Amino acid sequence: MSDDCIFCKIVKGDIPSKKVYEDEDVVVFNDIRPIAPVHFMIVPRLHVAGLNDCDAAHQSLLGKMLLLAPKLAAEQGLQGFRTMINTGREGGQEVFHLHVHVFGGGSTLPKT
Ligand code: AMP
Ligand code: ZN
Repeated sequence: MSDDCIFCKIVKGDIPSKKVYEDEDVVVFNDIRPIAPVHFMIVPRLHVAGLNDCDAAHQSLLGKMLLLAPKLAAEQGLQGFRTMINTGREGGQEVFHLHVHVFGGGSTLPKT
């Protein structure tokens, strides 16, 4: 838990979110500014700033997050989807608590 982290506050329930799924390791909720008809984020309960801060200790958590993506996407009605992990300011990261975006639906996604 990091005191001034918005995703830690969502994980704790101090800030509301539209939850899609949760278990002992992750909370999954809809992005407040969706870029596709379905757009949610897979967020670990553990505060880790991003992929640059991960090491072998996070291997199973990262694997779990990625394996959840197709399962939850299918539950949301997506036959295909895109995942995105922004890393660091230069990578477009705005919230420095690791998360995997999963989005899709509607018209065809742009290439890359
Ligand atoms: P990024 O760090 O670039 O992967 O982007 C963070 C994402 O979090 C953005 O797509 C925001 O729309 C989203 N976001 C920020 N605050 C909230 C919130 N309170 N609830 C849901 N999504 C949020
Ligand atoms: Zn956090």
